[in-house]
Formats: sequence, C-alpha cells, structure tokens
Amino acid sequence: MIDYGKWSQPGVPQKGWTCTGSYDSCENGEEIHRVCEMCERQPIRYVHVMGHDDYPGPLECGCDCAAKMGLEYTAGLQAARERERVLKLAAQKRIRDRKRQEAEEQRARERVEALARWEADRLARYEREGGEERSRFADDSGWKTSRRGTPYINVDGYHIVVFERRHGGWGVGISPLLREGETMWGRRTYRTEREARLGAYDALKIMPPPPAAEDFDADPAWIPPLEPMEEEAR
Ligand SMILES: [Zn+2]
Repeated sequence: MIDYGKWSQPGVPQKGWTCTGSYDSCENGEEIHRVCEMCERQPIRYVHVMGHDDYPGPLECGCDCAAKMGLEYTAGLQAARERERVLKLAAQKRIRDRKRQEAEEQRARERVEALARWEADRLARYEREGGEERSRFADDSGWKTSRRGTPYINVDGYHIVVFERRHGGWGVGISPLLREGETMWGRRTYRTEREARLGAYDALKIMPPPPAAEDFDADPAWIPPLEPMEEEAR
C-alpha cells in the first residue's frame, strides 16, 4: 500500500501524524462509501481522522494507514485497533437498540389491534344481544314525566332522567334512588329524547348494583364509582 495515493506524493509527511478523532461512516446502516484519503485506495468504514503540523487539514484514513502514519508503528496500530473496537461495539449496540425498539413498536401495534378487535367484538355482541333490550328500555312504560316536565324512570335502584339541554340536544342524569341529590350528569349530548333514553340504558349497564338501604347506614359516604359529572345547566 506504500506506493499508493499520498504515500508516494512528495511533501506529504509519512510519519508523525496524530489521531484527532474517529467515527463510524456507516453509522446509520449505509453501505461502505469512503476510501482512505492517505492511500486513496482502501475502502473504509471506521474513519481515523489524522492531523499533522506540516500538512494543511486532516486526512480521513483507514486503520492500516493510520497505524503507519503514527509516531511509532506498533503503538499506532494498537491505538487504531482500540478506536475501531469501540466504534464496532457502538455499531452493534445501535443494531441491538434498533431491533429492540422495532420489537417494542410491534408489540404496541399488536396491543392496539387486539384492543380494537376486542372492542369490535364487544360492540357486535352488544348489538346482537343488547340491541332489543335497549329498545325495550327506551320504550318502557315505566318512563314518566315529572311535574317539571322531565322524563324519568326508576329502575334497578336508580333514578334516571333525560332532559333537554339549554343549547339543544338531550342529556342523561342518573342517581341512586336512595340518595337524592347525588346525580351524575352524562357528558354526552343526544340528538333526540329517544337517543338519550338509549344512552341512559348504556349508563345503567355500567353502574354497579346500587347499595341497599342498610349499606347506606353502614357507609354514609358511599358514592357511585363513576366520576361525578359537573352539574349541567338544565
Ligand atoms: Zn489507506
């Protein structure tokens, strides 16, 4: 290699270079695309940046040339090899990290898909098994109208109202029959009264069984486990 490139170019120092840095030129998985600037021949991946007081600017070199260009060959070779070893370890770690990250992303995608499937199955089952019951609930003869004109129904220990919102649409409120004043107001707005009644059925389905009268005495602080809604403007 000693005849090639700058090795045979007059005026280019052949000894006394010092390494000012090293890097992996294929850090992001590129093909090897560089050639050593000293011999101008050796394709290199791990670049040793070499500087010399009698040469303008650094040369980016391969391991062999960098070792020969140093003050002393053996020490230069050892140092160049050590630099390469560090760069190779870093490259391997990047590959491992990338694989791990890809595996994590894959798992996350699978979780999201599984959740979506579960949700779709649940909705399908609900449509199949709950649809008729939902309609029956909305049309139940138990729905009455309060003195203030609000439709309500008392069912399964809960008092449910549907009401017209001030700015249009319908809302749902639900409270345990034995606990007046602890109404939870649903955030959803329904287009029609009947849709609100259907929504009330859904709300009822996620309520736990209301506490019995004796539980109220035992635990006067009992609060339905849903997040209490802010009271709506009625
Ligand atoms: Zn070279």
